[in-house]
Amino acid sequence: MINVVGVSHDRENMTLGSIKAIEESDVIIGYKKYIDYIEDLIENKEVIKKGMGSEIVRAELAIEKNFEGKNVALISSGDPGVFGMANVLYQIESRYDDVKIKVYPGITAVNYSADLLGAPLNDFVAISLSNILTPLSEIENKIKRSLESNLIIAIYNPISKSRKEPFKRFKRLVEDIRGSDCLVGIVEGTDDGPITSVVKISNLSEELVNMSCTLIVGNDLTYIQDGYMITPRGYVIKSEIHPFSRQHYEKFLMGEVKHGPKKDCDFYPCHYDGQYCDFCYCPFYPCGDSSTGGSWIKGKNIWDCKDCDWIHSKEGVNCIKDPLTEILKDVNDLKDKKKTLLKLRRACLLKNNPYDL
Ligand code: SF4
Repeated sequence: MINVVGVSHDRENMTLGSIKAIEESDVIIGYKKYIDYIEDLIENKEVIKKGMGSEIVRAELAIEKNFEGKNVALISSGDPGVFGMANVLYQIESRYDDVKIKVYPGITAVNYSADLLGAPLNDFVAISLSNILTPLSEIENKIKRSLESNLIIAIYNPISKSRKEPFKRFKRLVEDIRGSDCLVGIVEGTDDGPITSVVKISNLSEELVNMSCTLIVGNDLTYIQDGYMITPRGYVIKSEIHPFSRQHYEKFLMGEVKHGPKKDCDFYPCHYDGQYCDFCYCPFYPCGDSSTGGSWIKGKNIWDCKDCDWIHSKEGVNCIKDPLTEILKDVNDLKDKKKTLLKLRRACLLKNNPYDL
């Protein structure tokens, strides 16, 4: 048996399955650096350490040792199936009969990094910027389409001393498509443990990144909260309907709410000149989503919307108005149909089709 063993990023995060597979193997084969941190698990075993770039040699050696009747552990950092050793082994193994392979998962860089940064992942894609085996045009195309689809992007192998061009093009694409404020989490693996930071893409320089880094590119909803990088999913927060909001939506249901700016209001403009006042009381309150600029007043359990301007923009109001009329048949629907309302909000924020909730 050849056990392809994911050893995650450090001993703390290795799975019990991976440790057991190593213990039950006679021969251990791997890249020197990854063998070093499992040293105590491999005493009295045959150990073969190879350098970077010798993946095919390591896979062939694993097959050779297996044919000698030995159980082999082929070590892979992170997860063997994500830019790891499983792929190369299956490719080489197809030349032979009777090779049995079992892959033991590990924690890949995207999980490891995202969990250190906060909770930035929802729908995401992992892309390696290494153009050693993949044409740069293919990498660029994948990044472009992922950005256009508002996916979170985990970037593996962002840069090396001799490979800077993919990083330059990646940065340019993110700035062009997602804008200069797009948040990027950086997790650097060092001998003293991981170092994390979050910067805007416009501030992401080559000096901040090296071969040991993984980057997590946020999407249009990603925000920073108390230093953590968060991409909200839109969970429904329990709440009551405020009496003023009830009055407002009773009028809305009767078609009595004025469309556009309400300049005769004593409080106009409470946000900015030119604001639309159709949703003076937000139908999504409390959305609990800080990507809009809203935030909890700590210790008071009150959701504060003062920095959310989107709900008063012409585009936002025009997107929400008609579908809201379809959803809201009674004021209590503000509470009873909150999930659908929050999906409407998300569709309009991301400029998707609100009729396809
Ligand atoms: S006004 Fe903005 S922050 Fe407040 S609940 Fe509505 S969408 Fe959320």
